[in-house]
Amino acid sequence: MHEMAVTESIASICLKHAERHGARKVLQVNIRLGELTGIVDRYVVFYWDVVTKDTIAEGAKLNFTKVPVRARCQRCGDEYPVGEELDLTCPHCGELDSEIVSGKEFTVESIEIE
Ligand SMILES: [Zn+2]
Repeated sequence: MHEMAVTESIASICLKHAERHGARKVLQVNIRLGELTGIVDRYVVFYWDVVTKDTIAEGAKLNFTKVPVRARCQRCGDEYPVGEELDLTCPHCGELDSEIVSGKEFTVESIEIE
């Protein structure tokens, strides 16, 4: 049900944007999806059809850009990718206290309207 709520929120962003620009139809929506969100893109596509039914965003194509998880070391400042096991240990200095800098995104990057 997580996906239902986030899909509703991006649909509302798209519809507001489309309305503001006097669009007749939303054609495509480009979404940045962080791998840490646990959001499954095909569920978003499924709910999209439900939440946009009878709106100008119905039938829009959703494109997902997957954003990998990256962390930044608090000690040496190095930035590095984090694997699936989410071990944040810095590969350069061994520091454990690293900060996640990407992978939590779920944002509308751009919208194509007509
Ligand atoms: Zn480090």
